[in-house]
Amino acid sequence: MAGLLTARVLTEHFSRVTIVERDELTGEWAGDPEADPREREVRRGVPQGRHAHGLLAAGLNVVEELFPGAAEELAGAGVPSGDVLGNVRFCASGHRLRQVPIGMTALSFSRPYLENYLRAKVFALPGVRVRGGTDVVGVEADAGRARVIGAIVQGRGAGRAEVLPADLVVDATGRGSRAPRWLAELGYERPREEELHVDLAYVSRHFKVDPALLDGDIAIIIGPSAAAPRGGAVMLQEAGRAVITLFGILGDHAPLDDAGWRAYARRLPLPYVADVIDASVPLDDAVKFRYPGSTRHRYDRLRRFPKGFAVLGDAMCSFNPMYGQGMSVAGVEALRLRDQLALDGVARFDALRFFRSVRPVIDIPWQIATGGDAALPGVNGPRDLPTRMVNRYLERLYAVAARDEVVSLAFSRVTNLLDPPAALLRPGIAARVLAGRRMATA
Ligand SMILES: Cc1cc2nc3c(=O)[nH]c(=O)nc-3n(C[C@H](O)[C@H](O)[C@H](O)COP(=O)(O)OP(=O)(O)OC[C@H]3O[C@@H](n4cnc5c(N)ncnc54)[C@H](O)[C@@H]3O)c2cc1C
Repeated sequence: MAGLLTARVLTEHFSRVTIVERDELTGEWAGDPEADPREREVRRGVPQGRHAHGLLAAGLNVVEELFPGAAEELAGAGVPSGDVLGNVRFCASGHRLRQVPIGMTALSFSRPYLENYLRAKVFALPGVRVRGGTDVVGVEADAGRARVIGAIVQGRGAGRAEVLPADLVVDATGRGSRAPRWLAELGYERPREEELHVDLAYVSRHFKVDPALLDGDIAIIIGPSAAAPRGGAVMLQEAGRAVITLFGILGDHAPLDDAGWRAYARRLPLPYVADVIDASVPLDDAVKFRYPGSTRHRYDRLRRFPKGFAVLGDAMCSFNPMYGQGMSVAGVEALRLRDQLALDGVARFDALRFFRSVRPVIDIPWQIATGGDAALPGVNGPRDLPTRMVNRYLERLYAVAARDEVVSLAFSRVTNLLDPPAALLRPGIAARVLAGRRMATA
């Protein structure tokens, strides 16, 4: 996703953009998800594609900006669509947040379907070419090691590596990025790594779900609570299917067997996901994905970085997927890259300035994810006073948001990365949270 959105951005500044991808890719999008099962095929390079993948409002805004009309086209093709708050049932800490329409679209699709759609758009752009079935194994620098002048690529199964010359190489290879090692090999400092270990596992299955079971909603998300630190999601998808994901942390993972998986769902903080499971028809067996923890590479803190090179997406920062942020943040980063290229010009582009401009883009979702994780028992997250106070405040806010639509809307804007978390402390919201709590305890 980071690579596709970045490629689209780069076509504005470069006459040729080459996407190098280790999987063999087609650039086809059949449109009709009922007709073409390839739309749902999960690639080897993106195994997380089998699991629930939501696009936040901030992410859909990026897609719309880069591909105007995309939301309408996807909804027209049969992707379930609704209102970001009115039709997405979000439950936090055992509270079902109040739902009212706020006039912003949400789409619910499988990751492969969205990716195929965007890939077809990007591959069709003039100047874009694709080297599928090819690994990037390094970067080539000039004699002074001041500038990266190409990517070293190697066809899968083919013997020799070759240099693909480029004015700019962008690493969007995801969480497994080897950019820190390449930097060290060129004599640069590696970026410092921050990690919050959660030992999360997603265990997912697809179901034939009668949409009526969701009562007009397109997705149900049950976040973990301190009392029951496990969660689940039902997301309607194209072709009348739904993905149902159960997740837990620190080894409390959902079992793979049918009975154990269903029993785990029954022990979530609220019954909505288990109720849908019981009334629906399974289409496959459970598949597990383990995720050790959020990882942030502090490229923004480096003092030296070679020209002609940049890193973004999960390669720069990978967020605990429970918060559904990764694709959306990658999209916003791609827009920042566009801004920086416009500001600097291609010849003078400096990735250090780009990394610093992206810092606030990452700070906010990072704070949401690590702060949220820190509220869960056993997670060795930030324990400073501000984080503890914010988490105590949020507990109150969830209870109030269950009946107060103004508070629910404010919270939804923050989780959708439209407003910073500080918006929840504004006097208008704080007064409602505190008054609501007094009412609840009176
Ligand atoms: C279980 C799970 C659930 C998630 N749920 C959500 C969600 O609900 N919402 C959300 O926004 N995000 C979610 N994410 C995160 C999301 O998948 C990523 O943040 C998002 O895809 C952006 O990552 P990326 O494009 O940087 O990397 P990736 O999506 O991992 O893509 C990297 C690409 O690079 C290719 N590649 C890797 N190495 C090489 C190489 N050496 N040479 C050539 N090609 C290479 C891979 O094949 C792949 O195509 C989830 C993640 C997980 C693990």
